[in-house]
Amino acid sequence: MRNWLGWMLMLCLMMGWMVLSAKKRLPDGYPPSPDWGFYGHRQINFLSVFLLPPEMLVFFKPNIGYLSEHAVDPDKRRYLVPDEGPRHYIDLDRYGAYPYKALPRKWQDAVNKYTEDSLKKHGIVPWHVQVMQARLTRAFREKDASRILKYAADIGHYIADAHVPLHTSSNHNGQYTDQKGIHGFWESRIPELLAEQSFDLLNGHAQYIDDPGAFIWDRVLESAIAADSVLSIEKSLSARYPSDRRYAFENRNGVLVKQYSSAYTLAYHDLLNGMVERRMRQAIHSVASFWYTAWINAGQPRLDGLAGSFSPEDSTAFKTLNEAWRSGRQMLGRPED
Ligand SMILES: [Zn+2]
Repeated sequence: MRNWLGWMLMLCLMMGWMVLSAKKRLPDGYPPSPDWGFYGHRQINFLSVFLLPPEMLVFFKPNIGYLSEHAVDPDKRRYLVPDEGPRHYIDLDRYGAYPYKALPRKWQDAVNKYTEDSLKKHGIVPWHVQVMQARLTRAFREKDASRILKYAADIGHYIADAHVPLHTSSNHNGQYTDQKGIHGFWESRIPELLAEQSFDLLNGHAQYIDDPGAFIWDRVLESAIAADSVLSIEKSLSARYPSDRRYAFENRNGVLVKQYSSAYTLAYHDLLNGMVERRMRQAIHSVASFWYTAWINAGQPRLDGLAGSFSPEDSTAFKTLNEAWRSGRQMLGRPED
């Protein structure tokens, strides 16, 4: 009995240490976020690592800096690759009403019904997550360290996007309802203001996903059902909130910028009843579970001793990506905010 208690105590202490170290380490090495969406993506990939089993942690933990830094590569790619945009969202309201039964969940069935061009026009995130999952599984099978890291970082981004309600609505930035800016308000302003001080984002550990396709569709449908509240709650709040108090010049990464005021952000967050925190927590759990599932399906290859080194071509590609995004050029496809 005493032994059992001792083990439980040690386990609790270890868990506590992991949670604390994860939270404490969040800001370390974080470059200033150049875009509203970047903070959340980096944090989601970062925290997902802590939900992995020890056999994966041995490789993922030493590479946690890469995984969080490159969590935003897919967004940068949107400045360079015309096909990139649709991988980040799906306008489900284009397919009738919830639960959008008319839209086949399987890619080939959907292509047969709507054509590939038409699907791409309205976004393909649930299918692209499955493409990335196949790539990640192959990379694990081949024990290709740099591919594992690259695809793990990428899929973390797309899965996180699938958890954002406005990534499933054609009114993705409130442009049809005079709520421009709501996209970044929900997915960036709220987490940047509140995540570190009050969000509880780590839950359980990665779980094996029997049917990744069905799993990501469930998450996307949850997002779709929440999209109405995201929009309508802000709409009614803004109607009773004086416009001069909705925005303020406030500090962001050491710079004063005009943004949604802290008071307005807190009011919105309260009315959403923790929705942003819940979706972030779910996203972290989903990302870790997809990584874990790819590893299991690849036959649980040993990852200790695997050294991630990138080829000169990879390094050039990363450089090109950063230059395209820094150049101030126009995002290809539809902008998010
Ligand atoms: Zn994205």
